[in-house]
Amino acid sequence: MDDRDGMIWIDGELKPWRDAKIHVLTHALHYGSCVFEGQRVYNGKVFKLTDHSTRLRKSAELLGFEIPYSVAELDKACEAVVAANKLTDAYMRPVAWRGSEQMGVAAQQTKIHVAVAAWDWGSYFSEELRERGIRLTWARWRRPAPDTAPSASKAAGLYMICTMSKHEAEAAGFHDALMLDYRGRLSEATGANLFVVKGGKIHTPVPDCFLDGITRRTVMDLARQRGIEVIERPMWPYEIATADEIFLTGSAAEVTAVGEVDGHNLQVGPITRALRDDYARLVRGELKAAAA
Ligand code: PMP
Repeated sequence: MDDRDGMIWIDGELKPWRDAKIHVLTHALHYGSCVFEGQRVYNGKVFKLTDHSTRLRKSAELLGFEIPYSVAELDKACEAVVAANKLTDAYMRPVAWRGSEQMGVAAQQTKIHVAVAAWDWGSYFSEELRERGIRLTWARWRRPAPDTAPSASKAAGLYMICTMSKHEAEAAGFHDALMLDYRGRLSEATGANLFVVKGGKIHTPVPDCFLDGITRRTVMDLARQRGIEVIERPMWPYEIATADEIFLTGSAAEVTAVGEVDGHNLQVGPITRALRDDYARLVRGELKAAAA
């Protein structure tokens, strides 16, 4: 990823891709003092840009540091990256972290750095997989309680268990893993939120120890717009066995159908297809929505 052409915005200026480097004594590398965003560019425009910039600042606040740029300045930086790299459809990664000025658990004197990179990136899962539905297994790791980790923050450190879960799932021949929370309830996949369709209604876990995704809220609005009831409630693993449809949502994953959860097979159903199409149209400005 580091050896390619392009421009990356870092600490207020656009730099050649290969020069956007940090020191090995960066606090974030040792102690996880880092937050990030993931957003998509469609037709040259970042979808829900201000929501993502706002969440980046909030994620940092939850980790006890303030990003030295306003939401409007972050939005502008993202737009500058789209323009500088002449991107039309891409994935964008803003990131903020504590620098190398102080080494140790305490890091009040570190500088807060911010960077934004973006690159051409297609579907998170292949088109064929999106038609068949992805295969999920259960993760060995659970989402921590909100008083164990700052679970509302999109903090890099929270992804350690996601990477381990995804690696284990892929090694076992699956595409991703479903994580339970600290209580044993359903929570989310390693980088996307979970929805279960049953009897024409949509059920989704309460996001009290995992990210309340921007795509999640968008898709809930799209469903309601279609007159489909959306129920947010505590959910348990046994509910997977009686689901009619299951899908995941995320800025990267968009709306992704699930075709299997650990040996339990599912069809890619009409509600998943409808919402996947609505979302695809919404992000390209082809669907006017209350959510937009
Ligand atoms: N949960 C996790 C762990 C994620 O990484 C993501 C992707 N950011 C999501 C949920 C979905 O969030 P969003 O829809 O805001 O991209």
